[in-house]
Amino acid sequence: MSDVGNERCCNQCGQELIEIDNHDEHLTGCLTCNLWAADGSARWTRLNEEDLRALHQLRHGGSR
Ligand SMILES: [Zn+2]
Repeated sequence: MSDVGNERCCNQCGQELIEIDNHDEHLTGCLTCNLWAADGSARWTRLNEEDLRALHQLRHGGSR
């Protein structure tokens, strides 16, 4: 088995997965595909549009 590093990548678009906190739940997933998995869960979930937009703002906004 030759895995590329220990970072997990999105199996849809190949981007590095990021970690977020969504309503006190720790999720790991892909911002591009909007696919998220909770810790210890093999099940993928999608965020609603409002949460997703807030996330994008967090990633792009930040320091003003
Ligand atoms: Zn992706």
